Amino acid sequence: MSQALLKVQNLKKHYPISQGLLGQTTGHVKAVDGVSFEIAPGETLGLVGESGCGKTTTGRAILRLIEPTSGDVLFKSQHVTTLNQTKLRKLRRHMQIIFQDPYSSLNPRLTVGGILAEPLKIHKLADKSSRSEHIANLLKTVGLSPDAARRYPHEFSGGQRQRIGIARALAVEPELIIADEPVSALDVSIQAQIVNLLQDLQAQLGLTFLFIAHDLSVVRHISQRVAVMYLGRIVEIADRETLYNNPQHPYTQALLSSVPVPDPRLKRNRIILKGDVPNPANVPSGCPFHPRCSDATPDCKQIEPQLLDIDTNHRVACILKTEQAA
Ligand code: SF4
Repeated sequence: MSQALLKVQNLKKHYPISQGLLGQTTGHVKAVDGVSFEIAPGETLGLVGESGCGKTTTGRAILRLIEPTSGDVLFKSQHVTTLNQTKLRKLRRHMQIIFQDPYSSLNPRLTVGGILAEPLKIHKLADKSSRSEHIANLLKTVGLSPDAARRYPHEFSGGQRQRIGIARALAVEPELIIADEPVSALDVSIQAQIVNLLQDLQAQLGLTFLFIAHDLSVVRHISQRVAVMYLGRIVEIADRETLYNNPQHPYTQALLSSVPVPDPRLKRNRIILKGDVPNPANVPSGCPFHPRCSDATPDCKQIEPQLLDIDTNHRVACILKTEQAA
């Protein structure tokens, strides 16, 4: 990989569980438990997994919207995790987030113009005389009319509101955007429009994306590489074609087996996972996936698999696969 724009190293977010009158800590919910990956400039890395696997927490911990428990995040070689609040605010200009629910992330008391003016004022990016023109250009960039600046968020549809959320992220001319389930609250027909808009913006502006989603088809469409999360850890990471055509981790294989195939003549053998996702406060020993894995051996209960290379640009956390590749 060329020099990474973003490096995430052994990132953890553990929430203490307190009990009793004195609030003693009796355990931890390991929402993110040692996640590492890199994203090159201009690349889109998709981060997928079932809900509760820790992907949203990972995105927020990278931006320090929630403080990580440990680990490191480097943005252009700058250590994000140790920055003081003043320096962090300045850096946030370059690292923006698009939220799943555009409506709750937009201030309902401000017009769209007011919403877009805020980041411009905070980061001193446009003086008063040029602000309206700047806002009109932002709205045009995301496919909205400049007249939208005078209206309020509730006057727009879900897809239009997500366009406003994207315009707000673009206002500060970021290099990295963390898109946290940006289309999952939208109708399927609108989802494609927003995904296409993000791709066009990436081509025009050279943006880098961490695209978080549970919908494997959407992630396949937009990502160059894909990482699969399970119980707070990455279990497989590879370029898109490898991951979708030759998944190696049994969890990835099961997830992909449930994606509908567009051609009804093609049949896919659906892999039904045993049981439910375990409680992240009580992660199984050894391989966290072993209670649900049909390939599990007695070793899987004892040995914690590491995310290791099994091929060029293909890493898997499964002791069977890494033994076979060795
Ligand atoms: Fe399954 Fe064992 Fe591989 Fe875990 S390490 S995914 S339990 S085969």
